[in-house]
Amino acid sequence: MEPVTYSIPTSAEQAVSEFTSSGGGAYYVAGGTTLFDLMKLRVERPGRLIDVTRIGHDTISTSGSELRIGTNATMSDVAADPAIARDYPVLSEALLKGASQQLRNMATVGANLLQRTRCSYFRHGAGAIASAGAVYPCNKLNPGSGCAAIGGLDRAQAIFGVSDACTAVSPGDWPVALTALDAHINILGPSGQRSLPVSALYRLPGDTPHLEFELQPGELITEIVIPKTDAGRRSTYHKVRDRESYAFALASAAVALQFDGRTVERAHVALGGVATKPWRAPATENFLTGKTIGHETALEAARLAFADAQPGRHNGFKIELGIRTLADAVMIASERSA
Ligand SMILES: Cc1cc2nc3c(=O)[nH]c(=O)nc-3n(C[C@H](O)[C@H](O)[C@H](O)COP(=O)(O)OP(=O)(O)OC[C@H]3O[C@@H](n4cnc5c(N)ncnc54)[C@H](O)[C@@H]3O)c2cc1C
Repeated sequence: MEPVTYSIPTSAEQAVSEFTSSGGGAYYVAGGTTLFDLMKLRVERPGRLIDVTRIGHDTISTSGSELRIGTNATMSDVAADPAIARDYPVLSEALLKGASQQLRNMATVGANLLQRTRCSYFRHGAGAIASAGAVYPCNKLNPGSGCAAIGGLDRAQAIFGVSDACTAVSPGDWPVALTALDAHINILGPSGQRSLPVSALYRLPGDTPHLEFELQPGELITEIVIPKTDAGRRSTYHKVRDRESYAFALASAAVALQFDGRTVERAHVALGGVATKPWRAPATENFLTGKTIGHETALEAARLAFADAQPGRHNGFKIELGIRTLADAVMIASERSA
């Protein structure tokens, strides 16, 4: 057992102030669904927990020109919001295809953006050291130690954004949908407020895979803001996994299409399950623009997204799986009514 102090501030300002005065080792905690797992695995070892569930920032607003979702809204509540489910199926599907109902009732949409990779070498490296004396090299866990997945069991690893130091997949579904829709987050930190595109929250591993997010110590996500788009209704989040529910993506695609008559006027496309961060697919977006959609066009567009894939030893199947997942997503989105 390691001692942990625990506090429950009642405003975002108080939470940040408590973090600042903690002197290090403090973590915010919301639903706790991923942080507590990582503490049990000894991957995360906070000395202080600042529970942010009583600070407010849990409302969902769909009026006006943007969707504004407080960080502490639960995955269940956002997915069930009638306006979001009707006008932005890509958002509600991305949430409903993640985790389980019980987890979604606890888990918050802001903290969802900060979940860490499910790479087994990362998650079980620290516990194995403590219990069995075994050490899995993992540059994310122990910088400079190496990467057991490279040359090891890499079936679930990324084929985009990989480096010689790390091939771990970014696990979230919701961040992929938000990336496709050009969402940003509002942040409160020791230096004040700022906003950041969701796509810029994630760092590529490069040679510093332990640095995953573009957040400064003590910065608290307060809100997710999504610009409204006519592409919302004709959108989908399509996810393929080893079993039909309660599993992370092997390949997924968020697609939203804006039409002028039968012609695509604007396409929003991002990929999950295949990359080290939510992966925008601009070649596919550009190709689809100005086209009418049919199976061949969807497949051709999807192939473009995977042209630069860098598979390892056991994950080459993700290229064909990803192409088919994306092509199916384009067809599903195109067949939805506006
Ligand atoms: C068995 C299982 C299966 C899952 N399957 C999926 C899946 O298929 N797809 C998917 O996308 N997700 C999946 N998840 C992940 C789940 O969605 C996340 O655990 C959840 O969204 C995290 O929310 P939370 O509120 O519980 O976060 P917490 O565990 O409370 O916090 C997570 C991280 O965010 C930090 N944090 C919390 N709030 C803030 C804030 N406001 N600002 C800054 N930092 C903050 C914490 O310090 C911590 O580092 C699964 C989880 C489990 C346990």
